[in-house]
Amino acid sequence: MEDRFFMYNTKSKKVEKFVPFEDGKVSIYTCGPTVYHYAHIGNLRSYIEEDVLVKALKYIGYKVKRVMNITDVGHLSSDADTGEDKMLKGAEREHKTVMEIAKFYTDAFFSDCTKLNIAMPDAVVPATSMIPEFIEMIEVLIEKGYAYKAGENVYFDTSKLDDYYVLTGHNENDLLVGVRDDVDEDPNKKNKNDFVLWFTKSKFENQALKWNSPWGVGYPGWHIECSCIALKNLGEHLDIHCGGVDNIFPHHTNEIAQSESFLGHGWCNYWFHIQHLNDKSGKMSKSEGNFLTVSVLEEKKFNPVVYRMFCLQSHYRKPLEFSWEVLSQVASAYEKLKKRVLSLSSEGDIDEEKYAGFRKPFEDALCSDLNTSSALTVVYDVLKSDANNATKLKLISSFDEVLGLDLIKADAETDSSSSEDPELVKYVEEMIAKRKEAKKAKDFAAADAIRDELASKGIVIKDTREGTVWEKA
Ligand code: AMP
Ligand code: ZN
Repeated sequence: MEDRFFMYNTKSKKVEKFVPFEDGKVSIYTCGPTVYHYAHIGNLRSYIEEDVLVKALKYIGYKVKRVMNITDVGHLSSDADTGEDKMLKGAEREHKTVMEIAKFYTDAFFSDCTKLNIAMPDAVVPATSMIPEFIEMIEVLIEKGYAYKAGENVYFDTSKLDDYYVLTGHNENDLLVGVRDDVDEDPNKKNKNDFVLWFTKSKFENQALKWNSPWGVGYPGWHIECSCIALKNLGEHLDIHCGGVDNIFPHHTNEIAQSESFLGHGWCNYWFHIQHLNDKSGKMSKSEGNFLTVSVLEEKKFNPVVYRMFCLQSHYRKPLEFSWEVLSQVASAYEKLKKRVLSLSSEGDIDEEKYAGFRKPFEDALCSDLNTSSALTVVYDVLKSDANNATKLKLISSFDEVLGLDLIKADAETDSSSSEDPELVKYVEEMIAKRKEAKKAKDFAAADAIRDELASKGIVIKDTREGTVWEKA
């Protein structure tokens, strides 16, 4: 088939025409969540954009296979292999076993994905299900001279590669600044950026999950899991690898090092990275604990699909700042859009010329580095056009295969939040923000007065760990 999708490739640092390894077929690997806590809406921004990427490629005719791992072991609190395993931290926090935590948060992740119309990948592979394969891959890396044992851990030797920094364009010294500030250097490493493939000795002797290996009882590093799961499930040539920008270094850099050294040839051609969602105070971060989840959106009466639209209105390569105010505006735009679509009757014959005429700009928008805001504009152009209702409906229903906004589903089925008056939502959010300020300033009388005023209007507020939520009494 004709290749006409253009995308920014972190590896070449250019927008390039995407040409898959095999004609008409695309393999995609996605770094899945580390399941020690709920995914926050920043993580979910990445998964929404990846979902749109997959759906856009399918829409223009590719057969796509997408694989995702679930990180349930080996991701330490610093990406540079120091600190405690995040899973263990989660288990300690909730007085549960690591596997209970993993199951709970994996289920929670996919439930959030369903609410956001993010399709299930073709394969979802927990790291703990492939330990023997990781061990085999590490053995090959040692045999080929790319890995060494020191201080009872196995490390990848980055000095064996000419182009370890291929993805970042950095060099070792640049990385001393900022990125690695908090890193507690490991004296066993031969080179600053060598990384652990297998831990037997870590500072945390109480690591919950351990397996036998040729190097002693231990557990795998985080990076080897993605290389190995991608290779086993998608073969020696990967078309697109996805993730948030924080994964570029060291995680994806290390994946390239391992996979190419193991294979003895190039591995992944295109790297698709999503910029972060930030809140006013900065990057949203799971480890900081103060993050927004899909449940918080729902508690605040937003349909999760409104958050999907919020994301699609901006470009995946631009940082996006979250605000309740903008989300409320998107909620009312969404409600109006749905009303217009649902008022269309399906009478009339499809006007094939008009149908093709509007599909083209929609596909063109997707093909220009996934320009989702332009793709959304085409929906409005269709509604404004003189096409008959049946043609408009067919177009919007087909666009929604990619946009995933439930545009042609009846309100009652999908739309719990947008039935809420956006003006009311805005008013309550403002009052809650004022109350927060009052509490911060220790003006508890003012905070109570705000609570009482809301109560007099039939709004009950509740303070939870994730923030203040409200409902109608
Ligand atoms: P984690 O569960 O921490 O392994 O992250 C899951 C995915 O979310 C990865 O692709 C990260 O790069 C991505 N990610 C993390 N923080 C953000 C953020 N604030 N905005 C967008 N994506 C993020
Ligand atoms: Zn990964």
